Amino acid sequence: MGTIVTQEVYGINAASAADAVTAEISRLERLWSAFIPESEVSLLGARSGGAGVSVSAETAGVLAYAKGVWELSGGAFDVTAAPLIGLWREALARGSTPAEDEIAACRGLVGCGGLEFFPDGRVRLSRAGQRLDLGAIGKGAAADAAVRIYREAGIRSACVNLGGNVAVVGRKPDGSRWNVGIRDPAGGRGDCIRLYEAEDCSVVTSGGYERFAECGGRRYHHIINPLSGRPAESDAAGVTVISASSMEADAFSTAAFVLGMEKGSGLIEAREGARAVLVGARGEVRAVGSMGGLLRGC
Ligand code: AMP
Ligand code: MG
Repeated sequence: MGTIVTQEVYGINAASAADAVTAEISRLERLWSAFIPESEVSLLGARSGGAGVSVSAETAGVLAYAKGVWELSGGAFDVTAAPLIGLWREALARGSTPAEDEIAACRGLVGCGGLEFFPDGRVRLSRAGQRLDLGAIGKGAAADAAVRIYREAGIRSACVNLGGNVAVVGRKPDGSRWNVGIRDPAGGRGDCIRLYEAEDCSVVTSGGYERFAECGGRRYHHIINPLSGRPAESDAAGVTVISASSMEADAFSTAAFVLGMEKGSGLIEAREGARAVLVGARGEVRAVGSMGGLLRGC
């Protein structure tokens, strides 16, 4: 998944549960990676415009959820944004930005309206040239799979971190909650702006500061606004979502980042059980939903 995975697992079955999680994350990567030509995600792209592909229940489940977030976010979150993501990635790697007509051509391929589900388990991208990118939801879905494995193994204390996508089971062995730092978007790697005391939940951040390229004196980050066809010009610097489901936290943090402070807050507010910490471009912090005293300064 292009990231580093760390696990902290306690209990009698800790070692075997951690091994099972490592194996499961590798299995999901082989289904979902856009960089593995045989993955189900790659196949769906390669056969776009055709009759569709019979995919695993896991893949169908993530894609159906993703389409739901696309609808709820008014298209801000879109797993079919791959052509635009690739266009920007390749142009910036060459030290340039894409031309308007290239952006327009890719935009015509983007939209979950073209992502179709059939009762026999087939999934199809309806327009030839459409492609998928699960970069904004796959790590969350994998973290949920990890949590299920820990619970089935009877583990009562664990923390899995997939490149900043954190999910915890229970509390730490000493009975205290897990401290998850929310990074200060304006600071360096180790600087945090808030701490969240986590227990049986996931904490996921999406931000423009994580990965970006410089071109012509401007910064371009890796999160695209599918509606404009360009890197999202968000007034948020980072959005952290806290939820029982890591897939929800992953998808909705990306969606809220694209939407910005106002609309992003509204999106999370409407979700029962989800909470968010939005950090604005000037460092202002806005909490959405009841934190129950678990959010504090660093
Ligand atoms: P995240 O770090 O979870 O916000 O995910 C960012 C990654 O998701 C990017 O590196 C792209 O691979 C992909 N992506 C970029 N923009 C979008 C978008 N608007 N909707 C869905 N996925 C996106
Ligand atoms: Mg995400």
